[in-house]
Amino acid sequence: MQAKIRLLHERIHTIRREFHFQTAHQLCNDVGMIFAEDLNLKMMSRGMLAKHCLDAAWGNFLDILKWVCWKRGVFFAKVDPNGTSQTCPQCGAHTGKKELSQRVHECDECGYITDRDVAAAQVVMQRGLVAVGHTVILPVEEGCLAPR
Ligand SMILES: [Zn+2]
Repeated sequence: MQAKIRLLHERIHTIRREFHFQTAHQLCNDVGMIFAEDLNLKMMSRGMLAKHCLDAAWGNFLDILKWVCWKRGVFFAKVDPNGTSQTCPQCGAHTGKKELSQRVHECDECGYITDRDVAAAQVVMQRGLVAVGHTVILPVEEGCLAPR
């Protein structure tokens, strides 16, 4: 029985690893740069998202992604994760803490509305671009607001 369980765990590990490699390659097919939040996974594994983080083996995925990026010539960097879900990607305003159940980003300053995860990803991208020395002009500064 124990040997069977061990085999099952190995199989899960292999399938997960293959999935991580496939996903990393797919991401690299589409872009020249990838930025990820530099999350403290040890801290999170003690918090309420613990099970999700550990199950998804997020840290392993990031290691694989970093390696695949290097192999494929795609730039990879981690960025400061603080407040990515509390910043408006359109105008840069601080929008306050969102509850996990709040799935929509809605900015009181500029009226930008989008999915919460999309907004956070846009902030991560802007931080990454700034970190590598690109000038990031927020859509509001450019006078080019997203259609509402
Ligand atoms: Zn805004």
